[in-house]
Amino acid sequence: MKCISILGSTGSIGTQTLEVVRQNGDIKVSALAANSNVEKIYAQIKEFGPGLVCLYNEEKAAELSKRLKEEGITCEVTSGMEGLIACAGIDEADIVVTAFVGMIGIRPTIEAILKGKDIALANKETLVTAGHIIMPLAKEKNVKILPVDSEHSAIFQCLQGAQGNRPEKILLTASGGPFRGKKKSELKDIRPEDALKHPNWSMGRKITIDSSTMVNKGLEVIEAKWLFDVEPDNIEVVIQPQSIIHSMIEFTDGAVIAQMGVPDMKLPIQYALYYPERRERTAKRLDFRELTSIEIDKPDNENFPALSMAYEACRTGGSLPTVFNAVNEIAVDKFLRGDIGYLDIADMIGNAMAKHNLILNPTLDNILNIEDFLKHELAGYKTR
Ligand code: MG
Repeated sequence: MKCISILGSTGSIGTQTLEVVRQNGDIKVSALAANSNVEKIYAQIKEFGPGLVCLYNEEKAAELSKRLKEEGITCEVTSGMEGLIACAGIDEADIVVTAFVGMIGIRPTIEAILKGKDIALANKETLVTAGHIIMPLAKEKNVKILPVDSEHSAIFQCLQGAQGNRPEKILLTASGGPFRGKKKSELKDIRPEDALKHPNWSMGRKITIDSSTMVNKGLEVIEAKWLFDVEPDNIEVVIQPQSIIHSMIEFTDGAVIAQMGVPDMKLPIQYALYYPERRERTAKRLDFRELTSIEIDKPDNENFPALSMAYEACRTGGSLPTVFNAVNEIAVDKFLRGDIGYLDIADMIGNAMAKHNLILNPTLDNILNIEDFLKHELAGYKTR
């Protein structure tokens, strides 16, 4: 029986992963880790029976531990980074699903690779900031990095028929988010609740904001560079508002291969968990009798400047993608708290990138120190 550990089990990808596990009925859950949601992880422990769990928040972990004891449920409870690393490296697991949001996933992901676990990767920030460490390590340890991000899963699926031919170009699709077509003058007063509605995909809070600013697509360009070893200039972002084409690859002879389907994260999750096998799914299918057109558009780099910043970070490399990502994490948090305006997210990223002293080949410590430094420096920043 296949055994998995899920880091970020109470979030959007985590809960959908557990739905896939429930529907298939032949995967054992060895470990679960989450930030602080006692209620949700308690229900997951009762249903899936992992031997080890982690709540990053120490107080919440103690609360969970007490509750499990009272109910007579045996399950080891850990907390903090140490707990996450224990869940990532648990002996029993074959695959670790990295569904954490943000750079907090870097150290656990490295631990899982060192222990020889395959990675079902949903935590794109890890690859964006530490791709130059993660990818060679995975190769050395003979570990598969299986993309869960829908676009990268699509590219990965398209590549299955490539017979070793390398794609000349990656066509990364984007929905364009809920504000596509709007000008900066209309974007400046966007509130968190407006930005939290995504037209096609049901996702967590941070990624929904990231999709609306195009930061998410920027992170995905950098993620694609690492996953598929392509130069940023050979990655083209294509706006496909219905999210039916999940991405495409183009070969040297001009042939374009696309992966299409109804937008549903459970397909890429299931594909990663059972790769290379395809399992049956009873979910809604694309109906070409109902589909009248597939709309295509170009990215609007003037009103959504974050995508160009991501390309710059990707081309420059080194520690610049860490700055792009870390400042975005800080800015989105501030935007959701009402401390800054919507357009300030991209402004903060641009300003920090311009000020940054580049480190060409940053170590893990360099990366984490840059994140700490920026958090500290921007702590009091407010525009509203
Ligand atoms: Mg995506």
